[in-house]
Amino acid sequence: MDDLGTPAQITWCPGCGNFGILNAAKKAVTALIQKGVKRENIVMASGIGCHGKIYDYLGLSGIHSIHGRAAATVQGTKIANPDLKVIAFVGDGDSLGEGISHLIFAAKRNADVTVVMHDNGVYGLTTGQFTPTSEKGFKSPSTPRGSIEDPLNPLVMMLVAGATFVARGYPVKLDHLAEMLFRAMEHKGFSFVEVLQPCVSFNNTYEKYNKLVEILGDVPGTYGEAMALAGRKDRLPIGIFYEAEKPVFHEELYGEWNPVAARLSREERIKRVEGILSS
Ligand code: SF4
Repeated sequence: MDDLGTPAQITWCPGCGNFGILNAAKKAVTALIQKGVKRENIVMASGIGCHGKIYDYLGLSGIHSIHGRAAATVQGTKIANPDLKVIAFVGDGDSLGEGISHLIFAAKRNADVTVVMHDNGVYGLTTGQFTPTSEKGFKSPSTPRGSIEDPLNPLVMMLVAGATFVARGYPVKLDHLAEMLFRAMEHKGFSFVEVLQPCVSFNNTYEKYNKLVEILGDVPGTYGEAMALAGRKDRLPIGIFYEAEKPVFHEELYGEWNPVAARLSREERIKRVEGILSS
């Protein structure tokens, strides 16, 4: 077991893209710790689905949240203790099906949290139903004649919603993905990383992605360029699409006040309660 590992047995299918995401997350968290962030101050949450098992395999404190609510969970964590670095691992079905409003509002508020979407275009844990990012025509137990809907583009959606850091990675490019996760966690404000995650059992996209994935050079200079790149279908660029500075939610909410630093001691609370009871 490595430093950020756990004793849990990994039950993902051999070859699943989730392995690369786990290893990239370990590298990114290790880099963050080396830069001085205390491990106990890095907190994670996950949603429900194959991606959610990362909660059992990555040695960080946190909450294995409920379906679609990991983005809400990390926002609450950050508001409760702004000194923490918080990261949510979410699935495409999980966060765009069950939890789309939480994701959009986290971006809109510029909550100082990181969201990593394991985008495999399928509900893998429940044996392969279509999700909001499944390709049109995708045949599955819930779309036996093929999906008749166009897929959502998570990057475009996050750019429109107001995310101040938007990136994409691919587990086969492990070091690049680790760099994306590290940069996202370092960013002050809402950071979003879409990971193109092949599901070998129900939506094996390795061949397609190996052909289409292309590493971006510099971060695009304008929002318009970022949108154009995010919308590309002929190629699948990976890298940072957009990075901007904007006031973050908890600082707008609290100003200089910090709910942890300002917390009353046990003795002070007892004294106040006694004062109320005796008045
Ligand atoms: Fe990975 Fe798909 Fe297997 Fe789930 S079903 S562990 S996403 S390969």
